[in-house]
Amino acid sequence: MQLRGINLLKIRGVQVVIDYSWFVIFLLVVFSMAESYFPRTEKSYSTPEYWLMGIVAALLLFLSVLAHELAHSLVAMGQGMRVLSIRLFIFGGVAQVSSEPRSGRHEFLIALAGPATSMALACIFGSVYLVLWMGGWLRPVAAVAGYLATANGLLAFFNMIPGFPLDGGRILRAILWDRWNDLTRATKTASRIGNGFALVLILFGAVLLFFTQALVAGLWFIFIGLFMKQSAVGSYQAAVLKEALKGVQVRQIMTENVVSVDWLTSLDELIRDYVYRHHLSSFPVLDREEFVGMVSLADIRPVPKELWGFKQVRDVMTAADRVLSLRPGDDATEALTRMVAADVGRMPVLEDGRLVGIVSRRDIMNLFKIKSDLGLT
Ligand SMILES: [Zn+2]
Repeated sequence: MQLRGINLLKIRGVQVVIDYSWFVIFLLVVFSMAESYFPRTEKSYSTPEYWLMGIVAALLLFLSVLAHELAHSLVAMGQGMRVLSIRLFIFGGVAQVSSEPRSGRHEFLIALAGPATSMALACIFGSVYLVLWMGGWLRPVAAVAGYLATANGLLAFFNMIPGFPLDGGRILRAILWDRWNDLTRATKTASRIGNGFALVLILFGAVLLFFTQALVAGLWFIFIGLFMKQSAVGSYQAAVLKEALKGVQVRQIMTENVVSVDWLTSLDELIRDYVYRHHLSSFPVLDREEFVGMVSLADIRPVPKELWGFKQVRDVMTAADRVLSLRPGDDATEALTRMVAADVGRMPVLEDGRLVGIVSRRDIMNLFKIKSDLGLT
């Protein structure tokens, strides 16, 4: 999957990505530290010194958020889950995990690891601050440490708000999941509470904005509330979708009469007799009876039009060993998850290397729509 941002480094196989929106926060933190916070708390320094303190504080804050997300990731990996990436963006960080935790107990530990790390960092920075402050040494270092203790404490506190998808909401979901033994029901309840907290944050932001004229803080609460609301609604819908597709297998929804292309077909013919006629964007490719790959519009696009008569499907297709496929017995929810993750609209269904059908994202969503129209969700 293409990530919008800068790939910074890899830690134990986990790609750390900095979203472009993160730089806004970085500049905002440096600016507010250098121009207002430090000059107010520490009076006797020059402007460049304040800016240096601001930059150091912002960098350490960045490392603190990274440590929080790494803690989630390492615990998840310790439980055998695959963590694809950690993404730092304007509201903090997100660790992208390839699967759901196996049980409430597992999720509880993964979710707790982040706030626990932030709390530990708050204690460490707090101790540094206290020691330096009591001794009267290294005042600028003490000021930066004091700021980081507060920031990490707030990070731990804020993340413990019990609304899904925040860590506190995940912990709540884990407890409900463990008690009810029903992930879908737990997700629905936790995301409803998340939605409620999001509304409270938006309202609080609006109050700040209108009654105290605290522009930045007010807008920040409103934005983070909107972001939380969107995530809560998303996870609620995902839970409903999962419930509707429960027990449905790929064989029940796949199209069996697959329009396939012979691998010696020219690209001209492919466009004229397949793409235009069937209005599909990808086709399975066969060599006689054998499945040898998939060809899609994306494979044809780089080939100049003058060459379409000379090139064959086998020259541009994605070979079978690199094609993601499904089996008839696979779960429909799992199929949808894999298609979304791979960003493909259609996936071939193979049985012992033989093509037996094809599933599209639209098929799955149609089934969901039919089920909800019939009141079955
Ligand atoms: Zn977290």
